[in-house]
Amino acid sequence: MSVAGEAGPGDAVTLGELGEAGILGDIFAALTTTERVLVGPGDDTALLATSGPVLATTDAMVRGRDWLDEWSSARDVGAKVVVQNLADLAAMGGVGTGLLVTLIAPGTLPARWARELTGGIAEVSAATGVPVIGGDLSSSDGAVAVSVTALGELPGGRAVLRSGAAPGADLAVSGSLGRSAAGLEVLRRSDADWWPPQEYAEVAAGWVAYHCRPDPDLSQGPRAADSGALAMLDVSDGLVRDAGRIATASSVRVDLDEEVLAGSAGVYEPVLGARTALDCVLSGGEEHSLLAAFPAGEAPRGWTVVGTIAETGAAGPGVWWRGERATGGGWDHFGG
Ligand SMILES: [Mg+2]
Repeated sequence: MSVAGEAGPGDAVTLGELGEAGILGDIFAALTTTERVLVGPGDDTALLATSGPVLATTDAMVRGRDWLDEWSSARDVGAKVVVQNLADLAAMGGVGTGLLVTLIAPGTLPARWARELTGGIAEVSAATGVPVIGGDLSSSDGAVAVSVTALGELPGGRAVLRSGAAPGADLAVSGSLGRSAAGLEVLRRSDADWWPPQEYAEVAAGWVAYHCRPDPDLSQGPRAADSGALAMLDVSDGLVRDAGRIATASSVRVDLDEEVLAGSAGVYEPVLGARTALDCVLSGGEEHSLLAAFPAGEAPRGWTVVGTIAETGAAGPGVWWRGERATGGGWDHFGG
């Protein structure tokens, strides 16, 4: 990598000044490893011992698109991009075995930012026992992007796809709905000098924290697979949109439970109002809770049944809400 650092007098050290070897030395020194990493960072590739089929997924975040520096610290970004990847593994019933991290940034980026990014990655890596086994650095003219590739395996030996939902099954969620979106909404409104009512300040701060650094219970993925989940994914683009993916892949209809979901929205309503609260629950993205279909009555304890799976009618696969097909909502990278 060749980057031209242009730090002014008194500025913090930049990536350009530190150089690739210095940056990588910094980054990998902060990370832990496991015995299955036969060759770690520093050689041409890593060498990882595996127990069978390998899950592989990748997800990137771009400054200005996927995070704003005003709202998210480098540590938040590092933690979030890893969690997004591990949630995809969990959504198959899997667990992570290794992470590959790529940072693309201008030479003028403060080295401190990259170190804190690594700190966020290292925190999730240590908490989940999934080591960083390699990475890459590349320079840009200004864009900052962080990409993570996660490798994983299936403890139960069975991958849970999106296509296994069958009529009569329950659709259930592990964890929250709408919390990340509620946090984003609080951030947006606070930019316009709006603040949550005093008695909700703490709970609203919790939503913001979850938006910046989601913390879903990923152990529920393998648990769901063990419990006979028929189809599963993580809620990354909103309940309606993600349930729609199960509906399409499984050629079924999903009927969402109005009463249960109105209850979920009730948490946000006193702060955000009824309409926004329901939007958060139905369309809020980046939640990374797991959404799965189980044979009727067999959702594991702690999961919340939010709908039922039915035969498609003449209208074809889709998601129904209050007797109508639910469309749109949720985040689309290119549709906005
Ligand atoms: Mg996913």
